[in-house]
Amino acid sequence: MSEFQLQANGIHKRFGEREVLKGLSLSARRGDVVTLIGSSGSGKSTFLRCLNLLEQPNEGTLSLGGEALKLVRDRDGSLKAAEAVQLQRWRARLAMVFQNFNLWGHMTVLENVIEAPVHVLGKPKAEAIERAQALLARVGVGHRAQVYPAQLSGGEQQRVAIARALAVDPEVMLFDEPTSALDPELVGEVLKVMRDLAAEGRTMIVVTHEMGFAREVSNHCLFLHQGRVEEEGNPKEMLLRPQSERLQQFLSGGL
Ligand code: ADP
Ligand code: MG
Repeated sequence: MSEFQLQANGIHKRFGEREVLKGLSLSARRGDVVTLIGSSGSGKSTFLRCLNLLEQPNEGTLSLGGEALKLVRDRDGSLKAAEAVQLQRWRARLAMVFQNFNLWGHMTVLENVIEAPVHVLGKPKAEAIERAQALLARVGVGHRAQVYPAQLSGGEQQRVAIARALAVDPEVMLFDEPTSALDPELVGEVLKVMRDLAAEGRTMIVVTHEMGFAREVSNHCLFLHQGRVEEEGNPKEMLLRPQSERLQQFLSGGL
């Protein structure tokens, strides 16, 4: 079996004529926290979305736990999962947390968290509810299970979104700027939950502007520039002593 939990190789993505990902690769071992940094438009979200096939890449391979995802050409030339059922399962194995939480507004907090376990994984409802309540308690919103997302603060909504992602027992968690939409005083409570997940050995891929989080929590960092990895390495080294001029500029706020 592969030593890597998640491997993406040579991912290319075009929107029309424009190639926004130009051959990106990423490998994560079990328990790794990999951060993706880079200026707006560098391709971070698109790359994350290609990893769980919210976007269909034009070229590349994906594997999880040493098992390659079977991809076939779609009519437009992009790559899609060979079978619909495989795609659903893949997305549960790589659960995503979005910048804007993306909770379902017409469902209570509890209903949001049990939706995928019941409807995608086919878990019995009673079991899903029990687990959801434990996860909500764990991220500090156990007392909010019966309210609707709109009644919650942004920090609470994002913690619910993390509980929802955990509810499918993902092998890898993807985070796309999970604190960027939050008021500054709410950022810390979400980062704390993410630090705890990292400390318990979760494999995580995190797009972030929080350089402190990248430095202290992640063990590998990729700096993206115009759809390419411009620099990568151990964040403690790389963020302190950036080699490329572009990363130096980015870190000093010039990009
Ligand atoms: P980042 O997350 O690093 O800010 P994105 O991955 O969102 O960057 O975007 C990378 C580039 O791809 C940008 O130029 C963006 O405009 C373009 N892009 C992203 N999504 C689409 C889309 N659905 N259609 C066309 N262009 C897109
Ligand atoms: Mg983005």
